[in-house]
Amino acid sequence: MVFLNGEFIKKNQAHISVMDRGFLFGDGVYEVIPIYNGKIFRLDEHLLRLQTSLDSIKIKNPYSPKKWDSILNKLLKFYNNQEQSIYLQISRGISNKRQHSFSNLTPTVYIESNILLTKTKETLRTGFSAITQPDIRWSRCDIKSTSLLANVMYSQQAKEKNVEEIILYQNTQVTEGATSNVFMIKNNTLYTHPTNVHILSGITRDLVLESAKAYHISIQETSFSIDELNTADELWISSSTREIMPITKVDNKLINNGHIGNVWSRVYDYYQSLKNV
Ligand code: PLP
Repeated sequence: MVFLNGEFIKKNQAHISVMDRGFLFGDGVYEVIPIYNGKIFRLDEHLLRLQTSLDSIKIKNPYSPKKWDSILNKLLKFYNNQEQSIYLQISRGISNKRQHSFSNLTPTVYIESNILLTKTKETLRTGFSAITQPDIRWSRCDIKSTSLLANVMYSQQAKEKNVEEIILYQNTQVTEGATSNVFMIKNNTLYTHPTNVHILSGITRDLVLESAKAYHISIQETSFSIDELNTADELWISSSTREIMPITKVDNKLINNGHIGNVWSRVYDYYQSLKNV
């Protein structure tokens, strides 16, 4: 079952108009929210970010936080899986004529949930590969927009090159991953790009920082260069569906001789403990 504009229906019965601006222009925003132990994880934070994205592109939020909570929980009841990932998208809606500018429309709301297969710590311990690429995206990466052409191109490249992620840089400075935030440990300090228009402010990113604080690890929300990345003691990526993954090879060069770091292990454990709160 999926949710479309106020109704719970079968996925193969969910249809939208070709005049929907989500289809014509990618004019919409989205959220991906994990479910652990049958419970929605960090819903308030996701709803807050959704509101920020909607405000940025002048779409009125169709529902109150309470209503979102009830819709999402109702949808989850159709699935048996304890671990799921909700995909929620709001487009500006259907217009009569295809034109770039818009007037007030009724937003289209679509929600589905899929099984979330998180990797075990043992699997993560093997480490993952990434490659670097110049960041060709626009200067409003803070909006969780459904216009994802650059991210689609990067993810396809990652698939073809058989790597986990593409790490992006602007003028030698690492911004984030194609679908994740990036962290580096160097001399016991955690570095990650500051939240601004060049990255998406990840909900998992915040939790990584929360975990690091709990362990009194010093944190620098400043960007770091590709050269610094190559000499990192540890490198991680984070996202709601991948959690916190260690990267041990970048552009075919080993990070920390290919070893997983101790800081990752502690931060990962802390993150896991948050799931059960
Ligand atoms: N940055 C980008 C470009 C992303 O697409 C994502 C998630 O999909 C993230 C960061 C991580 O965000 P979150 O931790 O909220 O999933």
